Amino acid sequence: MERKQRTCLKCGRWFDSASPANRICRKCSQINNKVPMSEAQLQRQRGAMRHNGRIINDLPEE
Ligand SMILES: [Zn+2]
Repeated sequence: MERKQRTCLKCGRWFDSASPANRICRKCSQINNKVPMSEAQLQRQRGAMRHNGRIINDLPEE
């Protein structure tokens, strides 16, 4: 188990991140559930994940 302090991409505050993919603090992720920001949009902000040069996360068309 790896816990790291990261800065939230939304509010910029330090928080305990449960995983490398977790870049938004709990407070902001709760807000995210209420605003129309889809997981696909978040992934687009982060950039596509690549594995061996191939994009591994399929982004659904909107
Ligand atoms: Zn935050």
